[in-house]
Amino acid sequence: MSGRLSTLSLQFLPTSKVEAASAEWALAREGGTTKLVIAPKAGAEAALAGFEGDRSDGILVGPTSPGNAAALRSRLAWLRPRTLDTQTSAGLGDRLGLATPGHVRAVRRVGGGIAPIFPQQSIREMARTNRTPVEVMDDATWGMFAEGWKDGTGADADHLKTTEDIDATLAVGFTFFTIDPSAHVDSGADTDDLATLRTKVAALPWAELEDSEAGLRKRYVGQSFTVEHLRVAFDEAVVLRAAAKYGKAVSHVAKMSRYLLKTAGTRPVELEVSVDETDTPTSPAEHYWVASELRRLGVAWVSLAPRFVGRFEKGVDYIGNLDELETDVAAHAAIARHFGPYKLSLHSGSDKFSVYPIAARLAKGLVHLKTAGTSYLEALRTLAALDPGMFRAIYAFARERYDTDKATYHVSAELAKAPAAAAVPESELPGLLEHFHAREILHVTFGSVLKETNPDGSLRFKDRLFSLLRANPESYAANLEKHFVKHLQPFAR
Ligand code: ZN
Repeated sequence: MSGRLSTLSLQFLPTSKVEAASAEWALAREGGTTKLVIAPKAGAEAALAGFEGDRSDGILVGPTSPGNAAALRSRLAWLRPRTLDTQTSAGLGDRLGLATPGHVRAVRRVGGGIAPIFPQQSIREMARTNRTPVEVMDDATWGMFAEGWKDGTGADADHLKTTEDIDATLAVGFTFFTIDPSAHVDSGADTDDLATLRTKVAALPWAELEDSEAGLRKRYVGQSFTVEHLRVAFDEAVVLRAAAKYGKAVSHVAKMSRYLLKTAGTRPVELEVSVDETDTPTSPAEHYWVASELRRLGVAWVSLAPRFVGRFEKGVDYIGNLDELETDVAAHAAIARHFGPYKLSLHSGSDKFSVYPIAARLAKGLVHLKTAGTSYLEALRTLAALDPGMFRAIYAFARERYDTDKATYHVSAELAKAPAAAAVPESELPGLLEHFHAREILHVTFGSVLKETNPDGSLRFKDRLFSLLRANPESYAANLEKHFVKHLQPFAR
């Protein structure tokens, strides 16, 4: 860049420099911290309005603060999250807030065709990491800016369960709202007899569903629908089971959707429906029923995450029969095209390397891949190289926490099958990240690791982990890039 920035003796991040909106913009390192630097063109000093920092000779050097992040998004349009509609997309959740540069590099390396979602975090994970929605947003903003990413992003407020969750994330600019009605899904219906199903269906919130049991029966019982290669047939048991299992969830999604649209007003937002975190699979007939009922209630959505057959555990490949999964994905993809088209969303999408080719082929581009936790595992990989002793200590602590922390996750790792921390030679420590049991144990204990304190109240792991990652951003970014290219490549066009 040949402008005024080059006259300053600051250590600029070269990829961050950009000329736009009557100014030059960049990030620079000063002492151990990163600064925002803005040099307006002559006569365009108004470009600095709304930014905080020191001004000398008309150049602003300011902190990477929430205020400056918000001002930056308002000035540089490509940093502002937008809706992605049915574009093939991938969400790259970042629990530490330092992963976006590596995510950007992976998306860039794979090339066009995949719309990224850099800011993405569930309310549950925010609670576990002591992060707020605005921090999730800002960390992604600074990461995109640092890498010079100008091709846009979505922003996924993931697994929202209440209208308060919508308020908190809408307020800071999220655009993609994943509504999770799993608390209202009755998986027990899968094995109920007809009499129990009748009782459950009679007790559904019929007014909220703007429906009656007689109306429901009339629309479905004895009907069969052709969807591409699929024939979806409803007898009484199939209808009542779908309604008993998902009826309250449908009502909840409709309520959340109406609240979102009303609160968002003219701001563009989009909705995902996720029932992936339930005990039993979503059958094609159930998917058909849910989609059909949501449509009847006027709900619009861009993607839906069914609970597929088999097991999508955190951070490891698919567990189950791939032929059965293929049949299942083909059915769900056909239904998604029929009622939308909307995207099929793959949650817990990290490391599902045997699933990607199947999903990419059968969904024909109508797919959203959602990964969240393995950016943390790549941080641990980076740590294992920089400070093996600390990595070993984290692993030992994770083993202690595992039985408690696994409760809210779908994992099957067993402590007894993961090596004891002291038994692993130093050279083999990084190998724990490829070990099924150790990997899941490390994956689900991140919240405890980040929050654990020493007797004096200082953080036992978090501060040192963060300072090592901040001091070695290239190592972390390189590990992330390598990891996520493998995830994105199968979906690239
Ligand atoms: Zn999910």
